[in-house]
Amino acid sequence: MRVEIDVTECRGYAICVGIVPEYFELDDEGLARTLSVDIDPQDEQRMREAASTCPTLAIRLAE
Ligand code: SF4
Repeated sequence: MRVEIDVTECRGYAICVGIVPEYFELDDEGLARTLSVDIDPQDEQRMREAASTCPTLAIRLAE
């Protein structure tokens, strides 16, 4: 699984950072960026949770 953030949709709520801090952080403008795009299989469930919890659905997952 791979992850991408649509920065045009991100509003910096940082919910994703709270759920999977090893994959996301906020940049200097307060928007999320990915630390790694390749998701370890053992982290996929939490990543799906982050994607579905993001208020603007800015997190895109691809198999
Ligand atoms: S939860 Fe969504 S809107 Fe909030 S920082 Fe993460 S990607 Fe951006």
